[in-house]
Amino acid sequence: MTKINWIQEVEKRKDALIKDTQQLLHIKSLLDEENTTPDAPLGKGVKEALDFMLELGERDGFTPKNVGNVAGHLEFGKGDELLGILCHVDVVPEGDGWTSDPFGAEIREGKIFARGALDDKGPTMAAYYAMKIVKELGLPLNKRIRMIIGTDEESNWRCVEHYFKHEEMPHLGFAPDADFPIINAEKGISDFDMVQKINNDGTSTSNIVVKSFVSGKRYNMVPDFAKAILDVKDNQTDLVQKFSKFVKQYELESHSYVENGALILEVKGISAHGMEPKNGKNAGLFLAEFLSRQNLDAQAAHYFEFVSRYFFNDSRGVSLGVAYSDDISGDLTINPGKLSYIHGEGSSIGMTCRYPVTNNMETTKAKLDELVSNKGFSIENFTDSKPHHVDEQEFLIQTLKKVYEEQTGEKAELIAIGGGTYARSLKSGVAFGPLFPGRPDIAHQKDEYIFIEDLLKATAIYAQAIYELAQ
Ligand SMILES: [Zn+2]
Repeated sequence: MTKINWIQEVEKRKDALIKDTQQLLHIKSLLDEENTTPDAPLGKGVKEALDFMLELGERDGFTPKNVGNVAGHLEFGKGDELLGILCHVDVVPEGDGWTSDPFGAEIREGKIFARGALDDKGPTMAAYYAMKIVKELGLPLNKRIRMIIGTDEESNWRCVEHYFKHEEMPHLGFAPDADFPIINAEKGISDFDMVQKINNDGTSTSNIVVKSFVSGKRYNMVPDFAKAILDVKDNQTDLVQKFSKFVKQYELESHSYVENGALILEVKGISAHGMEPKNGKNAGLFLAEFLSRQNLDAQAAHYFEFVSRYFFNDSRGVSLGVAYSDDISGDLTINPGKLSYIHGEGSSIGMTCRYPVTNNMETTKAKLDELVSNKGFSIENFTDSKPHHVDEQEFLIQTLKKVYEEQTGEKAELIAIGGGTYARSLKSGVAFGPLFPGRPDIAHQKDEYIFIEDLLKATAIYAQAIYELAQ
């Protein structure tokens, strides 16, 4: 293989690379389903960003293709096999509190600031220039190279879903949409609700009737707030005292007060991503645990005992009998992110289960079905996205490791995660950059940025990776 000074090739094109990155960042490519047209089914912004990339590619001599106005690709080279680079040009809403215009792409302190600078327009442009360098150097290749551009990654992945229904699946590929060095294992993601079947609205002789209890809105977040509304027949002071003692024991912030004759209990926890519940403090589980220890009406007692027994202090599914762990990707985790109980109406526990790559969800689901149906619950709204894993010995990983190590001088450790990256929509693909180890992950936050130095480094790494993977 020809020896190339990759970073030097990037430096030669540095000004154009930065300028094109800024141009792309200027486009407000937000999902906009209220304002769609037949040729912009996900809104004008994302379509404009897609068109921008396709036109840029056409200008530089790549073969562009628009696929259903929700995705597209740019291709060059010859060969039976296809190398795919999967990017996206949609962004999450900018939010408040920015120092400069979120679509201004202002350069300060060696960084470009904009929504999408890191996720994923900056890396998209890095990968684009990487392709452009390989093409302009006229290097011999044995595969076709294709950049696939999605416009719905931040929402529903309708872009890749539509794309791969109509277009060929690359033989191998990478997605510059997460972290360096290489993410080769992503756990399976299964979301579902456990719904209480007992609906006891009869008169109760117990001292406490739980009118309602709610905590959390999303499966994949640890809820940081929980609230219960209680009807306490007598000795309310006693209950409030017990509550104070409980929250003190677990070092929780709380609040209790009376409103319209009902006692309100609130607990504050710590929010975290649901892929690792241990990083947070589930307010809902703590409040449920407290309630489960009181003398409640029958329906509530049944619900809170269930939550306490199977979820409190157990994020690994041990009590549920589905604990599992492997060396590649670690423990199965369960995050009850949506807890809801309404007296006389429906009650449920919504959760995300992140399961290891060698684990089988059918088996887990069968176990859970049996257990919960014996306990008066049923599993509903079940969804499952299979684990994703590319073996370390494969050519793809070996090549990316070599390239990364040559260019950075650092060891390319493989990473396993509990979340899902764009790479899982490829059959044999991994997430490869753009965030270097030690850099803060400011994707989706205010003042999102990419270091220009990192943008250039990533471009050089992608260029060599494309060249070597296409051999
Ligand atoms: Zn992304």
